[in-house]
Amino acid sequence: MKPHESSGSAESMRLNRFLARAGLASRRKSDLLVQQGAVRINGVPVTEPGTRIDPTMDQVECGGVRIRLPGIHEHIALYKPVGCLVTRSDSRGRPTVFDYLPVLHPGTVPVGRLDQDTTGLLLLTDDGELAYRLMHPRFTVSKVYEVLASGHLDEEDAARLCDGIELEDGMTLPATVEVRERIRRHAGYDTRLTLSIHEGRKRQVRRMLRAVGHPVRELRRIEFASLPLDLPRPGSWRRLTAAEVNSLRHRVGLQDGVQVA
Ligand code: URA
Repeated sequence: MKPHESSGSAESMRLNRFLARAGLASRRKSDLLVQQGAVRINGVPVTEPGTRIDPTMDQVECGGVRIRLPGIHEHIALYKPVGCLVTRSDSRGRPTVFDYLPVLHPGTVPVGRLDQDTTGLLLLTDDGELAYRLMHPRFTVSKVYEVLASGHLDEEDAARLCDGIELEDGMTLPATVEVRERIRRHAGYDTRLTLSIHEGRKRQVRRMLRAVGHPVRELRRIEFASLPLDLPRPGSWRRLTAAEVNSLRHRVGLQDGVQVA
């Protein structure tokens, strides 16, 4: 499907109607803006006001500003690459996660943090209540990490991780560990494991592994609130489906979100 082609979904609507309902301008003025080439759909300029779009999936911009219907929120899954920061902008000019994303509503924020050296699934949304609840410890949202830990992490270490570790900011909640692989190194082994936790303290996984004597070499988040990392490569992203958004909302005690006005 070309970027500006209609998906033909039940939610599709004409571009000029979309722009008018989004409050950009009257229907007639919207027609003119489109005809003048001011509007892009998924990055492609469109000059036909009757072009059909799917307001839940297509990205409409006018003069570089993202246009959305009222009540429709942005929900993005990004495969965060190693090396970029989870912040809107960096005073030292380092790359941020927003460098990998299209123009988004200014209120779109990352749901929690991943360290600069961590890769994997990061959600972003402009639904403040949803973001707040997904991050709040009260909702004990699960996060699953694939960890490459240095050394031979044995059953005793795994049991300590599961039962709870005393960190500077208190005991960690019960976790789940599955040892996947021992990797031979020059003078011993490293261990690949899956660690599932239900809180999101700063550098928590790295601190937990360090506390049992097996510092993290590589860290990838492979699941967040039951959403799997299903993107093809670091730097790729997608919009969540309405079903995924509703499942996230249910998980934290919110009603189904209305996705289409
Ligand atoms: N735990 C960490 O230590 N780092 C992350 O980026 C995420 C979880």
